[in-house]
This record gives sequence, structure tokens and C-alpha cells, in this order.
Amino acid sequence: MIKYKENASLLPHNTFGFDVKASMLVEYNHEDDLPHIFSDERVAGRKFLHIGQGSNLLFVNDFDGVVLHSRIKGIKIASQSDDMVLIECGAGEVWDDLCQWCVQHGFYGLENLSGIPGEVGAAAVQNIGAYGAEFGDLAVAVAVYDVVNNRHAIISAADCQYGYRMSIFKTDEFRNRFVVTSVLLRVSRNGELNLEYGNIKAALLERGYSLTAHLSKRASRMPGVKSITLSGLREVILAIRQSKLPDPAVFGNAGSFFKNPVISSAKYKQLSATWPDMPKYDVDADFVKVPAAWLIERSGCKGRRIGDAAVYDKQCLVLVNRGKARPEEVVKLSDAIIRTVSDRFGITIEPEVNII
Ligand SMILES: Cc1cc2nc3c(=O)[nH]c(=O)nc-3n(C[C@H](O)[C@H](O)[C@H](O)COP(=O)(O)OP(=O)(O)OC[C@H]3O[C@@H](n4cnc5c(N)ncnc54)[C@H](O)[C@@H]3O)c2cc1C
Repeated sequence: MIKYKENASLLPHNTFGFDVKASMLVEYNHEDDLPHIFSDERVAGRKFLHIGQGSNLLFVNDFDGVVLHSRIKGIKIASQSDDMVLIECGAGEVWDDLCQWCVQHGFYGLENLSGIPGEVGAAAVQNIGAYGAEFGDLAVAVAVYDVVNNRHAIISAADCQYGYRMSIFKTDEFRNRFVVTSVLLRVSRNGELNLEYGNIKAALLERGYSLTAHLSKRASRMPGVKSITLSGLREVILAIRQSKLPDPAVFGNAGSFFKNPVISSAKYKQLSATWPDMPKYDVDADFVKVPAAWLIERSGCKGRRIGDAAVYDKQCLVLVNRGKARPEEVVKLSDAIIRTVSDRFGITIEPEVNII
């Protein structure tokens, strides 16, 4: 079924909580609806934007065009072997429902991506990532509707060119060319838990887990030993996220507002002479990634506020709507932070959030 709604409020469709309007909102629940939608006179030739839950969008104005939203559902096993399972999932499924489904079925791969807001179609566009895992690590292929050629197509994961929060779907060349309709992911029956990233280990120790017992069947069954399991890891990751990140239902936000900048190793060496505690992650021999949260905090932006738009006190990377913020206040705050970081470190940080 296809639903067309004129002059629709996008308030339920963006986690910043801005009551902007779209000239037309179209919701559909089958990939075969797409050719009809794009040839409908209310849509054909008009500017359009496909959204998910709007958890990475900042609408600065009403959208003078068509906003599309998929309700394509369904999670199923496409094929399987003794240790590998291919999962096909509709673009309109909630990402975390897919993570939960995999964990419940004992499939490894998505557990570290638990709790990321948004829908499956957007995950494929954004190459979502957290705790050492990325969508692109698991993707086999992405099914799309090609708006330019009016046909369905399958794009291999290699052709999606996944990089840090990047894919071909976000490039100027292909933005708005493809609507993601479903994804094919490879998960495993006998995976290894990845506890290496961020504060996972500290959180496990705090909860009395052994960090090694899960590696041996014998040790994991020893009396008094609390061994970490797939579902246990998911719960811990959800708890860490909940303690660190603002709930959009309380303070509107779109997660990390800025990307972590990648700079040359030479520049890092130069900066670290003045800032010896500047953290970094090696990208390759010539480049390193610096946490934007550290740069923002050390630039003195913690607690900065313009109107009701503010830097979240527990995580500098997140900008929040403390109640009555206007979109332009969030943009002004973002610009002010970018300038301040650039003045202090000579590094230009860029928004991760899609500003519309
Ligand atoms: C509290 C919070 C925490 C977050 N934590 C993380 C995190 O840990 N890691 C991370 O990577 N992100 C994180 N995010 C950002 C966000 O969850 C992701 O970017 C997510 O993928 C956005 O999903 P969405 O459905 O809301 O997409 P939207 O924000 O609606 O859209 C995102 C992009 O995808 C495009 N798009 C959406 N659906 C389709 C489709 N079917 N076909 C084609 N294009 C489409 C849109 O045009 C847009 O460009 C967080 C956000 C919040 C609010």
C-alpha cells in the first residue's frame, strides 16, 4: 500500500525533534511500489529525499519536495552452511530489531552494532559503525531501486565502496539515485566476541564477567565463573550506550554530530609536540584519525550553548536540543565549534549529520 500525505509534519520522522514540514510524504511497504511512486504525477520530476527514522538528519527548513519512507519489512535466512548464515532484511526494519534477532538466533556479527538508532536501509547508506564493527564488514550486497534507470538492481558490497561512515550512496554522483530496498548480510554461527574496543572490557569487569572464560568451553562452565555470551555482550553494549548517549525522546539529537577527522601522521607528530596526550587511531602508514570529541573538549567547547542548542555534557560529539532549540541555532553552534577547533588545532572537523 502506498500512502501520500501533503504538507506532512516531519516531527515523528526526525530525532532532533524539529517540527518541519514536507510538501509531500510518501510511505510504502513493497519494493514494487517504487516504480509507481516515481511515475506518479505528484512525485515525478520533483526533488525528493528518502529517509529512515531521521536519526542522522538535521532539517533546517521545511522540505519543498517529496520525502519518501520505506516500510519494507522482513528478516529471513537466505542461505546457510555449518558456520555461515546469509540474512536478507527489508530496508524498513529497525536496525536494532535485526541485531536482536541475530543475537536471539545465536548469529555473531551484529552484536557490537546493537542500539544504533535508525533503519536497515539507512545503515547501508551510512555504513554505521560502533565498538569496532561496521555495517560494511558484514554486507554481502544491497538491493536498490535505481531511480534514474527505473529498475531494481543488486549492488555488491565491494561496489558500495564502504569507508568510514561512507558509501557510494553518499557521494555527489549517486546521492538520490538509489533507494535501498533490502540488504544481504553474512553472519556467523561460531564467531568470536570482539571486546577490544572502547570501554567494553571495563564495563564487563564492572559487572563481574571474566574476560577470558568464553574462550574455553571448560572455563566457561566452571562454577562461580561469569562467562560473557553473545546476548550478554549485547546487553552490556546497550547499557554503555544508554549511559553515554542522550535519549532522543528526552533531548533531541542525531548522535555524533561530527566525524572524527583524519590527518596526516606528519601533522599529528607536529601537534603532539604541543599536545602530547592527543589520542589517535592509526588509519595507515601515512594517516591517523583523531577523536573529534577530544578536539572539541580541548577547544573549550564543552557546555557551549546557543539558545537551547547545546553540546551534550557527557559526550562532546553530540549536539542536543534542550527543549526549544531552533534548527538554525544547532547550525550556528556547529559552525562555532568547527571554527574554534580549527583556530586551536588547525584541523577542520566536518558534520557527520546530514544537514537538509
Ligand atoms: C542517540 C544516537 C546514537 C547514534 N549512534 C550511532 C553510532 O553509534 N554509530 C553510527 O554509525 N551512527 C549512530 N547514530 C546515527 C544514526 O543512528 C545512523 O546514521 C542511522 O543509520 C540513521 O538511520 P535512520 O533510519 O534514522 O536514517 P536517516 O537519518 O533518516 O537517514 C540517513 C541517510 O540515509 C538515507 N536513507 C535512509 N533510508 C534510505 C533508503 N531506504 N534508501 C536510500 N537512502 C536512505 C537518507 O537519505 C540519509 O542520507 C546515532 C544517532 C543517534 C540519535
